[in-house]
Amino acid sequence: MQVTVLGAGIIGVSTAWHLLQRGHQVTLVDRQPGAALETSFANAAQISVSYCEPWANKDAPLKTLKWMFSDESPLLFRPQLDWAQWRWGLQFLAQCNDKAFVRNVAQLVALGAYSHAALKEVVAQTGIEYNRLERGIAHYYTDQKSFDGAADAAALMQRFGVQRRVVSRDELLAIEPALRAFGEHIVGGTYTPSDESGDARMFTQQLAALCARHGAQLLFNHDIEQIERDGDEVRQVRVRDRSDGVARCLRGDAFVVACGSYSAPLMKSVGVSVPIYPGKGYSATLPLLHPERAPSVSMLDDEMKCAVSRLGNQLRVAGTIELGGFDLSLDTPLARKRCEMLVRRIEQVFPGVADTRTPEQGGDPQFWCGLRPATPTNIPLIGRTPLRKLWINAGHGTLGWTHGAGSGKALAELMHGEQPAMDFGFLGQGRQRPASTPVAASTRLQTTTPPSGA
Ligand SMILES: Cc1cc2nc3c(=O)[nH]c(=O)nc-3n(C[C@H](O)[C@H](O)[C@H](O)COP(=O)(O)OP(=O)(O)OC[C@H]3O[C@@H](n4cnc5c(N)ncnc54)[C@H](O)[C@@H]3O)c2cc1C
Repeated sequence: MQVTVLGAGIIGVSTAWHLLQRGHQVTLVDRQPGAALETSFANAAQISVSYCEPWANKDAPLKTLKWMFSDESPLLFRPQLDWAQWRWGLQFLAQCNDKAFVRNVAQLVALGAYSHAALKEVVAQTGIEYNRLERGIAHYYTDQKSFDGAADAAALMQRFGVQRRVVSRDELLAIEPALRAFGEHIVGGTYTPSDESGDARMFTQQLAALCARHGAQLLFNHDIEQIERDGDEVRQVRVRDRSDGVARCLRGDAFVVACGSYSAPLMKSVGVSVPIYPGKGYSATLPLLHPERAPSVSMLDDEMKCAVSRLGNQLRVAGTIELGGFDLSLDTPLARKRCEMLVRRIEQVFPGVADTRTPEQGGDPQFWCGLRPATPTNIPLIGRTPLRKLWINAGHGTLGWTHGAGSGKALAELMHGEQPAMDFGFLGQGRQRPASTPVAASTRLQTTTPPSGA
């Protein structure tokens, strides 16, 4: 088949790679001059199979309301005159109950486990280097009441086969001695030894280069302007070269939409509505001053709802989510405040370890923001659309790096006529097998809002 993949973030590139592995011809299109220059550029770097709880839980509506009035809150709903935002919000509210939460976690764990295996396969096959650290993820708590709920959350994850255990403060400090300076504030934590961290941008860019070496045509600097249909089938996709303004039409046997948050407006132009809405998040990447005192276990900070990962000689902190449209500004007072809040936290938890000075003080923090392609369930849309020849791989929300390798592999398998070996509701075919781990609706759940970095 000749397949055109629209979007060269982690999801599009991974899809392209797995299609090439199955002998298909691939054209990969992106408006940026290279791969992974939008949301896959500077995320929190966590491969977070074991911390995959969606934001939609029974406590979320009240918390969101409370948080609306503070610029420093982890989740900020900024109402717009946009029906897509309100519809998404209502769909999100419908997921805020225990039954939906458990159902969603089951699928997120299944995709996470499948994806982790797929990532390991790709790394073994290609030798890609991306500042990978296989030291697990530790979640630390500074509030006793929140920590009291950690055991229930861990028990739920264990039921789905995930290794998450509750650890005392002393155990946590032994797992990650870099937390010692902040130790007196920590009341305990949880730890998932099988999780990892690594740079999504480095991985994606190298995989894109390998795609080219395996015969893919990379069309960077091209805007995808229009998907054109003939009845219930896609006829072609019109793209325009940003450098000379020349438009061309791409034809073929199949098209994959992997445009992150922009998948929704693109699909809408051919009459297909998908519940994907942008969730803006920020990161700051700081040079290390004392690498020997820096963490190598990736971290989740429960109080600030942010994530911290070491990437070579840098420390990255990322988090917060703003539901307020496609705004990517970094220079507004609100954006600045949110970035500085993340940096301040690094200085509190790891004092003196990284250069946390502001640019005005002579520091060089690399601030960044990206739009998580969020679905109300946090479950991505992978599979067939109602239009013939048109497939989708988008809506990976807070977990696109974690789920990237597996989502790409799974969609390539479906397109190739294979059935991915996991219990997951693919679009256009539903779930193939009944849930493997039924959980009673009355199960008591700890549904504290998860950190947004992962
Ligand atoms: C602050 C933050 C922290 C995060 N931390 C983590 C984490 O620790 N672990 C994790 O698993 N996930 C994390 N995520 C989520 C993860 O980064 C995303 O889910 C993932 O990057 C989405 O990948 P994607 O390929 O779908 O989208 P993108 O990377 O945005 O790729 C889509 C591509 O489509 C292109 N495109 C879109 N529209 C057009 C058009 N019209 N024409 C041409 N090209 C177009 C874009 O240029 C882009 O390259 C985080 C996200 C944020 C914001």
